[in-house]
Amino acid sequence: MAESVVTGRGIDVLRAAVLGEVLVDGDPGYPEAARVMMSEGSPRLVVRCAGAKDVVEALRYAEAHDLPIAVRSGGHQAAGFGTNDGGVMIDVRPMDQVRLLPDDVVRVGTGATWGRVAERLGKTGLAISSGDTASVGVGGLMAGGGIGWMVRKHGLAIDNVVGAEVVTADGAVRRVDAVTEPELFWGLRGAAGGLGVVTSYDIRAVRQPTVHFGTLLYPCTQAEQVLAGWAEYMADAPEELTSSLQLAPTMMADRQVPVAVMVCVTGDVDAALEPLRHLGSLLTEKVVEVPYAEVFSDMSMPSEWRPRIRNGFFNTWSPDVGRRLLEARPEIPGLAIEIRALGGAYGAMPADATAFAHRDARFMVNSVLMGSPEQQGTQPKAFDAMWRSLRPDGAYLNFLSDPTDADLDACYPEAHRKRLAALKQSVDPGHVFRSALTVPPRPEWTGGRRHLMRWAMRSRR
Ligand SMILES: Cc1cc2nc3c(=O)[nH]c(=O)nc-3n(C[C@H](O)[C@H](O)[C@H](O)COP(=O)(O)OP(=O)(O)OC[C@H]3O[C@@H](n4cnc5c(N)ncnc54)[C@H](O)[C@@H]3O)c2cc1C
Repeated sequence: MAESVVTGRGIDVLRAAVLGEVLVDGDPGYPEAARVMMSEGSPRLVVRCAGAKDVVEALRYAEAHDLPIAVRSGGHQAAGFGTNDGGVMIDVRPMDQVRLLPDDVVRVGTGATWGRVAERLGKTGLAISSGDTASVGVGGLMAGGGIGWMVRKHGLAIDNVVGAEVVTADGAVRRVDAVTEPELFWGLRGAAGGLGVVTSYDIRAVRQPTVHFGTLLYPCTQAEQVLAGWAEYMADAPEELTSSLQLAPTMMADRQVPVAVMVCVTGDVDAALEPLRHLGSLLTEKVVEVPYAEVFSDMSMPSEWRPRIRNGFFNTWSPDVGRRLLEARPEIPGLAIEIRALGGAYGAMPADATAFAHRDARFMVNSVLMGSPEQQGTQPKAFDAMWRSLRPDGAYLNFLSDPTDADLDACYPEAHRKRLAALKQSVDPGHVFRSALTVPPRPEWTGGRRHLMRWAMRSRR
């Protein structure tokens, strides 16, 4: 079967039908396309889609040959769901246009990276609140929400979407917005991965040519005091200030790595920062005005690393949570912790306005267990135990490397789950898009997702 699918008539027909490229193992470009950040991947073929029509052809091909689908944009998904073994990868990266429409609306191809979007918009003075990393893809970040450096001022990335083009499982190319297909539009904003392949989003940008961006550092010995003071201030801070607090892994060569408070300010910088300067013995403050595109950073990691990534939303900050995080650090030397403050415009959106639900959350704790499986040793056990003791109020879809059914429930509370299941039943009753952490059309499909999880774990090794 493998031979005939790859080299037989089917693939020639597909090649002739698409504007983009079809790659199989052995083609130049295949290894780069097949691999994503967290998994090597060995799809039977990669369809590099140049437009919606190519996506339709790829779906038809997968259906005709009964092959599973993976949808890949920037390739950063924490469980490696952007690729698969033996299936069809829909690579949306050729669809990377960034086009200005009237009224500061920007049509963004889902294959673009957020670094590219910010750079392209830079000349116009426009900006989109998205994420913090240049190489993260539009397709994947938007599928879950998009918590960026202006989230408290301008909300999630999905909150600024006014329309989208999506290819659904039946091969239809649909233009959706609040008036045309409002239910699908609702679902795409927080659960897109399970509903179709989005080819572009229309996003309302904001006039924000520059921001004040940087870091305040405090001694690691004052972590508890700094964290408590930061959380207290951020619970009520002006929404022009978006901030996170970062605790580096204790395994780092210099165990005295300071506590870092990162800030992005879109308004009066001194008023926003003043209370932060007194959280502890301030070591340094480096906050400068930069073009918005310069707030994006990037990362690389050794190829043998398999970071374990887990997060939780908290509706209020409890000193106990802070204490538990700090107590866990010596026991889990590979643990990096980032706490992002939410609220502001993020919380102003009603919980049922989008498929993303957690509008009451005031903080998100994100955690990464660094290293290869060998380096991690028994730390994953302690990492999981730490999370069991934290008891968060929900979870963010986009920072989960080993998602379980319980995590899916944590991402989508019951009312959202029911609404998503009904929507899924109407647009993808056969669960074609199961290669995402997604609510199935019917409960019995959950087993299918567990199977997918096992596959994902295997391919991450
Ligand atoms: C270093 C790093 C920094 C990050 N920083 C942030 C941050 O600041 N804020 C934040 O919110 N998140 C952040 N994330 C999480 C990020 O949003 C998710 O990992 C996201 O899934 C990555 O998107 P991608 O397109 O790069 O990944 P991919 O692996 O290409 O895609 C991920 C999944 O999204 C779905 N998908 C992709 N494209 C489409 C499409 N066109 N249509 C429908 N579904 C699609 C598919 O289910 C796919 O499996 C970060 C991740 C990393 C690794």
